[in-house]
Amino acid sequence: MTEQNEIKDISVVEPLIFELSSPGRRGYSLPELDVPQEELDALLPADMLREEDPQLPEVSEVDVVRHFVRLSQLNHGVDTGFYPLGSCTMKYSPKVNENMARLSGFTALHPYQPENMTQGALQLLYETGEYLKELAGLPEVTMQPVAGAHGEITGMMLVRAYHESLGEERTKVIIPDSAHGTNPATAVMAGYSTVEIPSNENGDVDLDALEEILDDDVAALMLTNPSTLGLYDQNIKEIAQMIHDVGGLLYYDGANANAIMGYSRPGDMGFDIVHFNLHKTFSAPHGGGGPGSGPIVVSDKLAKFLPVPVVSYDGEDYYMDYDRPDSIGKVHTFYGNFGVNIKAYAYIRSLGAEGLKAVAENAVLNANYLQESLKDYYHLEFDRPCMHEFVLSGKNQKREHGVSTLDIAKALLDYGLHPPTVYFPLIIDEALMIEPTETESRQSLDEFIEAMIEIAGDAEEEPEALHEAPINTPVRRLDEAQAARNPVVRWYPEDYAEDD
Ligand SMILES: *Cc1c(COP(=O)(O)O)cnc(C)c1O
Repeated sequence: MTEQNEIKDISVVEPLIFELSSPGRRGYSLPELDVPQEELDALLPADMLREEDPQLPEVSEVDVVRHFVRLSQLNHGVDTGFYPLGSCTMKYSPKVNENMARLSGFTALHPYQPENMTQGALQLLYETGEYLKELAGLPEVTMQPVAGAHGEITGMMLVRAYHESLGEERTKVIIPDSAHGTNPATAVMAGYSTVEIPSNENGDVDLDALEEILDDDVAALMLTNPSTLGLYDQNIKEIAQMIHDVGGLLYYDGANANAIMGYSRPGDMGFDIVHFNLHKTFSAPHGGGGPGSGPIVVSDKLAKFLPVPVVSYDGEDYYMDYDRPDSIGKVHTFYGNFGVNIKAYAYIRSLGAEGLKAVAENAVLNANYLQESLKDYYHLEFDRPCMHEFVLSGKNQKREHGVSTLDIAKALLDYGLHPPTVYFPLIIDEALMIEPTETESRQSLDEFIEAMIEIAGDAEEEPEALHEAPINTPVRRLDEAQAARNPVVRWYPEDYAEDD
């Protein structure tokens, strides 16, 4: 354990704010009344009055601030340490983006204000869409969806509208076994049945298996390229050709576009629809369920089905185009998560085209540096250069020493590091899916490597100790199933009464 980690060995037991309560303590003081005091029961009907005082904590302002700051520090965040959670792109979020999103010209806007008063906001939406079109290599965009999965369902609604406009009722969506879980969930929600295709020995889509299931009932193929294995499918041109030959569409899950930004465009690969996660690739903070933004960019043949309104520009003014009779309708209130779009716009503008390419270069470089440094210690199923992420397997540690990937992940917590994504993708046994992102220095990558190597050594020498990890965190191993099934989110004073 390094010196720095020893400092983290202070477990913090933060009481509930109710336990900090001290009778009569206040967080404010008001000046003397300069009007006659009235009793409440003279002013309000009896049935609107409380019979007992509310059981609120009595605390000072300092108590409140310290309590919540301490709680905030119990959590790991990208502002406190390395966060290589695969497929989640936990890159550092530049603070300048937050400052831009907080400008009062944006925060004080009302979505019902007339277009002549909101030209700046419309311009921002329009231009963000233009940049995404450029990155996708496709001509039309909507900024309305508010998550990756929301972009997916919007995209699949366009797929349905497209086939229906041709008088066709296709029922199948093809999804590789390495796909993110949202892809099959989306296809099913959109009313399709899913057909899974296996990966071949290189981790790419198995073309023979694909050939076998292709027919004119295929509505679309949903693909992530690079895949969740961090591998760029070398046969993408053939795949696109095969799908288009049977009249299907190609959907690109671009949640993590870090690897390809400025280098390769889904439109050029043959895709018809792309969603981007602005909260991943374009650095807006995410986690805990939101807020996100999942715009989709589409080919010409899908343009007329896009949700209304489409933000447009006539060379002089920006405006909302509602006059689109074939539209699938709205998919969100107003124009999506505008605040997240501001952050992505600020990110794109501050990096510029060259900066975005540098993001891709460094994301790929960092991932390959980790892969090469760790593959002698953990099994690597597909030993070829990766893109922005890669997947190790803890299967040797499991088989030889009884140390599971969960043990390894928990042990990392003791180093002050967030673990990688574990047990996903499902096709890798005991998977550890590692995405360092481009915002990490050589030093923080080396610290992670050192920790992973040390844990591999501990697995051999003291496997029992790893079953106990973590030992330095505010809480140890939690019963996650119980927490999900029976969450206790309210506090009742009687549950905590002394004489209980
Ligand atoms: C994160 C992610 C999604 C889903 O994005 P949300 O914004 O969480 O809905 C879809 N596909 C991939 C590959 C992802 O990494």
